[in-house]
Amino acid sequence: MSLLVTGSIGLDTVEVPTGKREHIIGGSAVYFSLAASFFTPVRLVGVVGEDCPPNLLSIFKDYDVDTSGLEVRKGSQTFRWHGSYVKNMNQCETIRTDLNVLAENAAKIPEKFRDSRYAFLANTHPTIQQQTLSQLHKPRLVVADTMNLWIENESKELAKLLKQIDGLVLNDGEARLLTGKQNLIVAAHEVLKMGPKFVVVKKGEHGCLMVSENDTFVLPAFPADKVIDPTGAGDSFAGGMMGYLATQGNSYPSTVKRALAFGTVVASFAIADFSVDGLKSTNRQAIDHRWEKFKQSMIF
Ligand code: AMP
Repeated sequence: MSLLVTGSIGLDTVEVPTGKREHIIGGSAVYFSLAASFFTPVRLVGVVGEDCPPNLLSIFKDYDVDTSGLEVRKGSQTFRWHGSYVKNMNQCETIRTDLNVLAENAAKIPEKFRDSRYAFLANTHPTIQQQTLSQLHKPRLVVADTMNLWIENESKELAKLLKQIDGLVLNDGEARLLTGKQNLIVAAHEVLKMGPKFVVVKKGEHGCLMVSENDTFVLPAFPADKVIDPTGAGDSFAGGMMGYLATQGNSYPSTVKRALAFGTVVASFAIADFSVDGLKSTNRQAIDHRWEKFKQSMIF
């Protein structure tokens, strides 16, 4: 079923203990789109500035990503982000964020995208997330991501967004910041009170946790032996999860659990190289193979 995503599309500078890469392809919607396209066609909605380099615009050409909702805005500058994992590979430190075009209006959703049944509002300004959502006709499942910057600076807009979505995906630090609760199970239940019907808390190398009113599910991370750049792990996780869900057309607990496992596996490929190179080096067959291995490793 149709899967739409909006989020950031930009250029990252990333520092890890083994080195630094500048102005590489990044953005939440970029990672998400590539990851989800291993499962289902993706409709991308987003905006970059007129300074956007051609290699960023052409990244989707070999993937099942419809870019008719990608606007190159004259007179605007592309989103840029600089993060560091030098102190802790499991916790990113944001050095600098230049929102640029992300501080402006959302891109207009093409008419042919408005019937999308599945929507992922990847990490971007909560106002943009709401503007995008309001242009959709009748989505069946809407899931969003967010981060510290928005929890701290845009809490009112974020609260409005949370009332309109089915699911929220966020990491452990963000869940604690959003709710003021240290215990992640308690924090997840606090998030449910804010609106979403389910919440997925990502815990980096410690896996993830899914909580809904009647269900709590934990999954370890894939035991990856190659971790070069964790940037985009969360978005790739969400891409694998939503991509799989969109192919199933239902949200039964067993389907959601399999989707979380696909998200976990796709993320393990994303972190094996800088930028989107980890995702580019894999394919659906390798993902399925690793998914089976992951599943087998949990039977005891
Ligand atoms: P993650 O999956 O959480 O590692 O997401 C990393 C991506 O999020 C990077 O490629 C960044 O370009 C992007 N990003 C970082 N900060 C923000 C922000 N405030 N809003 C939107 N996207 C962001």
